[in-house]
Amino acid sequence: MKMNRRELFKVAGVGAAAVGLSGSFNFSFAKKSEEITLTKPSSKSQRVVIVGGGWSGATLAKYLKRGNRDLDVVLIEKRANFFSCPASNLWLVGLIPLEFLVHDHLYAASKYGYHFINATVHAIDRSKRYVYTEKGKVHYDYLVLATGIDYDYSQWVGNNPKDVEIARTKYPAAFVPGGEHLTLKRKIEEFEEGNFVLTVPPGLDYRCLPGPYERATLIAWYFKKNKIPGKVILIDPHNDPPVKAEGFHKAWDEYVKGYVEYYSNATIKGVDFGKKVVSTEEYGDVNFDDLNLYPRCKSTELIYNAGLVPKGDRWPKLKWPYNVTVDDPRILCTGDARNHPFSKSGNTANSEAHHVAKQILAMVSGKSAEYMAPRTLCYSAVDADKAVWVDLTYKYDPKKNSFAFHNVKMDNTPTGKNYKAYIEWAKAMYRDMFS
Ligand SMILES: Cc1cc2nc3c(=O)[nH]c(=O)nc-3n(C[C@H](O)[C@H](O)[C@H](O)COP(=O)(O)OP(=O)(O)OC[C@H]3O[C@@H](n4cnc5c(N)ncnc54)[C@H](O)[C@@H]3O)c2cc1C
Repeated sequence: MKMNRRELFKVAGVGAAAVGLSGSFNFSFAKKSEEITLTKPSSKSQRVVIVGGGWSGATLAKYLKRGNRDLDVVLIEKRANFFSCPASNLWLVGLIPLEFLVHDHLYAASKYGYHFINATVHAIDRSKRYVYTEKGKVHYDYLVLATGIDYDYSQWVGNNPKDVEIARTKYPAAFVPGGEHLTLKRKIEEFEEGNFVLTVPPGLDYRCLPGPYERATLIAWYFKKNKIPGKVILIDPHNDPPVKAEGFHKAWDEYVKGYVEYYSNATIKGVDFGKKVVSTEEYGDVNFDDLNLYPRCKSTELIYNAGLVPKGDRWPKLKWPYNVTVDDPRILCTGDARNHPFSKSGNTANSEAHHVAKQILAMVSGKSAEYMAPRTLCYSAVDADKAVWVDLTYKYDPKKNSFAFHNVKMDNTPTGKNYKAYIEWAKAMYRDMFS
């Protein structure tokens, strides 16, 4: 499935009118710039600024306004359109159209009455309570950082800027919304033969635990369907997929047999882009003809630069079980930007945002709301028309200040019914955020 020009703009998140304009940006100018004029519902309205209009931020903006019309809610998102990472693996191999994944922010903003600003927040002044964008500054009473994740290449690629640039541009992970997915889709479509290598980050704090396994399975399905003489090699530091392992193994042993090699318990030592090799301790040098390099995840620069990430850590310190930062009672981090040990998933971000909306609504009126843990409901396709799922929530133990899985349900039998439920789940989520 090739993309036309209109589709390309959609996924890249730029309006056609913006194309061709110079993107140069003078930060010192923006720091001095005027406040963006935004009308408040009333002179007494408190303002909540949300940075990031992904699964967390878009849900939060809507439910804050639904809970209190007098609250002034400002959603600032650097991309013009919403691009869904969930279900994007299906789109990569042509199982669903691009329209399924792309949604607009403006309809919900005008329907629910929050401001939508298409801009990047470059800095936060915590003492004066301003965020700075290239379009001007915005004052806040409460600030929610729902900026998702960034990649940490230091472990496998090192810190040499040239190598990091090669990793980011030539072998993008495509685990953040947008343009990287275009590159990966083209790579899959243009792959002629050999080893298509994918990596899984170590630990459990990477975005979408089953995502790399679903992607590997579907790329293998695509190679098989199109009789491409290639195989997918999945290099994984875990001893097995952390979720839905049975479902993925069934796919690799039956549906795409011979198209997937699974290298589990692997320790990746480094990547040599020149020699096209991923070096591992257990499997030696793994040659690649193409590579989808998904490294460890970390907070976005904005959260680091706001001084909210403790030295040596990769996530902001929050007052568990809540999302308020330890350093600043007016700043919260939600979605994949939080440091809770929840599965970094869209469903988790969406259900968490429903609860955080209630907490913020209570905070602005000087009250408190009971803590509710989010829900992780996550489907994965293991064939072109079959899926498996996991559904769980979390329990907070105040004595240990820790979380444990709670009410875990799973269906590891790949079925068409589960695949249909996957599609219906995604549609229901988009409706919840944008309709
Ligand atoms: C391939 C793939 C498959 C997945 N499949 C599933 C699935 O099946 N089910 C599921 O539940 N989850 C799935 N996920 C996980 C899901 O996508 C994430 O957990 C979810 O997007 C997290 O939401 P978020 O709002 O925290 O982050 P995001 O959705 O990434 O949103 C963050 C937003 O912040 C914006 N932003 C960042 N910095 C700034 C800034 N400085 N200024 C302005 N804007 C900024 C970004 O542009 C982005 O839009 C999948 C992810 C991937 C990559």
